[in-house]
Amino acid sequence: MKINTAYGALPPAFFFTEIGARVSAYQAAHPDQQLLRLGVGDVTGPLSPVVIEALHRAVSEQASAETFHGYLPETGTAFLKAAVAAYYRQRGVDLAPQEIFISSGAADDLGAVGNLFSADARVLVAEPAYPAYVDTSRMAGRTIVHLRGTRENGFLPLPADEMDADLIYLCSPNNPTGTAYTRAQLQRWVDWANARQAVIVFDAAYEAFIQDEDVPHSIYELPGAKTCAIEICSLSKTAGFTGMRLGYTVEPEALVREDCSLHDMWTQDRTTRTNGVSYVLQRAGEAALSPAGQRYSRESIAVYQENGRILSEALKAAGVWFTGGRNAPYLWLPCPEGMSGWAFFDHLLREAQIIVTPGEGFGPGGADHVRLSCFGSPADTEAAAERLLTILKNGI
Ligand code: PLP
Repeated sequence: MKINTAYGALPPAFFFTEIGARVSAYQAAHPDQQLLRLGVGDVTGPLSPVVIEALHRAVSEQASAETFHGYLPETGTAFLKAAVAAYYRQRGVDLAPQEIFISSGAADDLGAVGNLFSADARVLVAEPAYPAYVDTSRMAGRTIVHLRGTRENGFLPLPADEMDADLIYLCSPNNPTGTAYTRAQLQRWVDWANARQAVIVFDAAYEAFIQDEDVPHSIYELPGAKTCAIEICSLSKTAGFTGMRLGYTVEPEALVREDCSLHDMWTQDRTTRTNGVSYVLQRAGEAALSPAGQRYSRESIAVYQENGRILSEALKAAGVWFTGGRNAPYLWLPCPEGMSGWAFFDHLLREAQIIVTPGEGFGPGGADHVRLSCFGSPADTEAAAERLLTILKNGI
């Protein structure tokens, strides 16, 4: 038997289980205390009424022979591709329908996109990062170069002439640091990748949270990106679809390496490995991207953005250096001197009943930091901001 031994080298999937266990133990010991949840990595609001109506309509269509839909095109329906293309056009990006691949969410395609590259492709990951980039590359047995975000580079590492890689994972806006590349910074990555014939996998899962004008929502807003980048996005955070599972990946036709069209390879990959996403979900996605759907999403996101503002104000008032809170639903801060992320997690739970996420969950580059999430309820967030201000101002 020849199994893939790379799985054995992965860190055990205990991280969120451990957080849950520590929180449960604390809650059991202090049943009268109310915990404030700033560790949430999931949306909390309901779906928009237009999405719910579209779901009901699509379910009813499936109930009658005249309107029933069986298998659909593996890479997505024409109506949803048109809706995604129109969404991109709002940012001045023109995509042909065949360049858009409807998926079951970003996580699925972040893993699957590695199918296009050989096992010895060198992978560069800008860290701290969403763990899927490193873990799926490890599962494929690839060598990974870790490019560290630091306080000095504002947790937005940039390419350098001496660096080299075949495949680069960039996430902007970033989970966990909440930072986002400006147009000029991202252009440096695009130029660097084109010069080396490298390919950028650009995770745009949080694009809908961007507030600053000079931060691009799509890498294709930049000249040259279509010859070096694959963009992966989803409706999870944009439209509250985390429990629905719907996303899209863009593989431009201009993306060619070693005389092979990555677009054609991806078409082959998807039509071989998947039978696409359900009709009902695709109608829901179309509704989410309609003008009314987008209006609702903007209003839902505004609640999370306000949470980001409240937390940012508290950290500023406490004199704490941090990143994020403006273009992404996360804030990222160093732990007090000498404390690990886990130690600070325990401290905040014990002293302020606030749940955060230890930075250790986002790779070695995340050590000694914690992530605050803006997905908590406004009431929890306000109360947490007050307690954070007190605890951070007074020192630990
Ligand atoms: N990319 C990033 C940066 C994320 O934070 C997440 C989820 O938290 C995902 C991708 C996964 O998104 P999806 O729900 O579309 O699979």
